[in-house]
Amino acid sequence: MLNEKLHVYIEKLIPERHSLLTEMEQFAQIHQVPIMELAGIETMLQLLRIHQSKKILEVGTAIGYSALRMAEALPGAHIVTIERDVERIQWAKEFIGRSGLSKQITLIEGDALEVVETVSSHAPFDVIFIDAAKGQYKKFFEIYSNYLSEDGMIVTDNVLFKGLVVESEINIKRTRNLVKKIVEFNRWLMIHPGFDSIILPVGDGVAVSIKKEVRGND
Ligand code: SAH
Ligand code: MG
Repeated sequence: MLNEKLHVYIEKLIPERHSLLTEMEQFAQIHQVPIMELAGIETMLQLLRIHQSKKILEVGTAIGYSALRMAEALPGAHIVTIERDVERIQWAKEFIGRSGLSKQITLIEGDALEVVETVSSHAPFDVIFIDAAKGQYKKFFEIYSNYLSEDGMIVTDNVLFKGLVVESEINIKRTRNLVKKIVEFNRWLMIHPGFDSIILPVGDGVAVSIKKEVRGND
């Protein structure tokens, strides 16, 4: 998102991850699993540290990379994470098992739009991290923001969609529809009466939303 040279400069300064995480990063690259971009995840982890998040809901586990990064960055936190892809669920279980951090992570298998009841039994969450199907961001936000604690924060990944949100001509139909959805989501989010939001131009674009302060009438 930044100029390319600065982007490379920043990424190179980020310390190497330990071997399991590096293995997962390579696995993701080989198998085209869209794990969060490095600068994006580092930014999110730092926000979570500042926020001292304790109970996190993640929508979109993939192979468990971001869940493990959060568990490691916040040793006192518990992460409930949802994934619907059967193969990715298996990989996530394997990687989480090997990490030694499985006590901190609860994996819920199923479509995030269908497992609401199970998820809600773990509520409230002080962070909700939305990183699943882009076409459904608004639904995820609407459903799961009901389970956010008062001082909670919602982080949404990929809101700049590789810069496509500012392209007027996109030839691939599926991509065009997704871009439209993200553009709509961003507009909706930024004027949401219940939340103050910003879009950080790091990684693939990370939106951060917190509940608006409720003011009395006096
Ligand atoms: N957060 C992960 C990357 C997630 S990629 C990381 O950074 O490491 C997005 C994942 O969301 C995919 O694995 C996809 O299968 C899953 N997904 C998409 N829509 C979903 C839905 N409605 N319910 C559950 N999982 C979903
Ligand atoms: Mg993402």
